[in-house]
Amino acid sequence: MAVPKKKTSKSRRNMRRAHDALPASSYQECKNCGEMTRPHHVCGSCGHYDGREVVSSETVEAAA
Ligand SMILES: [Zn+2]
Repeated sequence: MAVPKKKTSKSRRNMRRAHDALPASSYQECKNCGEMTRPHHVCGSCGHYDGREVVSSETVEAAA
C-alpha cells in the first residue's frame, strides 16, 4: 500500500477542500403559479411544466 511520506498540513488539507463545497441549487419562478421551482422539473405546487399542466393539480395536492 502506498503511504504518504509527509503528514498533510491543516493548510494543505483545507486548500484541497476549498473546492469541495456544493453549489447552491438554482431555482426559477413557475410561469403558472409563481412558485420557486427547480429548472427542468415539474412544478411541485401546480404540476405545470413548459407552460402546460403535466400532473393534475388534484394529484399534486394529494401528494403534498
Ligand atoms: Zn407552478
